[in-house]
Amino acid sequence: MFIKGETDEKREARVREIMKRLDAHYGSEPPIFLHSENAWQLLFATILSAQCTDARVNMVTEKLWKKYKKLEDFRDVPLEELEEDIKSTGFYHNKAKNIKACATDLLDRFDGIVPDTIEELTSLPGVGRKTGNLILGNIYHKPSIVVDTHVKRISNRLGLAESNDPTKTEFQLMETLPKEYWIRWNTHIISLGRTICMSARPQCDSCYLKDLCPSCNDKERLTSTRAKVTKGKKSIHKAEEKNVLRLKKD
Ligand code: SF4
Repeated sequence: MFIKGETDEKREARVREIMKRLDAHYGSEPPIFLHSENAWQLLFATILSAQCTDARVNMVTEKLWKKYKKLEDFRDVPLEELEEDIKSTGFYHNKAKNIKACATDLLDRFDGIVPDTIEELTSLPGVGRKTGNLILGNIYHKPSIVVDTHVKRISNRLGLAESNDPTKTEFQLMETLPKEYWIRWNTHIISLGRTICMSARPQCDSCYLKDLCPSCNDKERLTSTRAKVTKGKKSIHKAEEKNVLRLKKD
């Protein structure tokens, strides 16, 4: 999905203009969609957000942070009790197991401090590159790119990446985006993806990036990104359905 024949200089100028407009619409200070007051809270909220909406996670963590005030509380709570407390976020057996193991690891291996390298972060239970990069950028302000479904789809559409694999997308974006844009690329693109550049019906005619986007009203490019995303979305819907069924059974 890169633009054929586009030189590095031209692409950089295009990226700078895209970023200027994104900043104008969403501000240059990236918002944090998940509510937290410290590094481990953001880490656990991100683990809870897998296959779950931010709004639901925020509802759950509002009570969670009041009940569990320190890492030891997560380490020592019986697994079943933690599962019950996070049940509505789905996949609660795995999430509870990971959060407890993560709290234990943080206490045993890192003196209770959330580490600040991607290698150490991804060595924690339940923490992949997406979560690790989110902590690096939002807590430690280290340049890092969080690739979620919006970032993957829209970076492809904008011709700044060409992959359906999040890790490849991350490394391609490291090449195509200047470092100073890495942290806020994710939140800007989520905002764009939720309001204008939706998966199934992107609003190209009213999009403020249309003159900078190679996919604008290009059925072939839009369909190819949509097809991949639709597949992913289906699995999320399936997961959500399973989750509802599980909740009903339990
Ligand atoms: S022009 Fe269309 S495809 Fe490009 S970013 Fe805007 S909505 Fe998305």
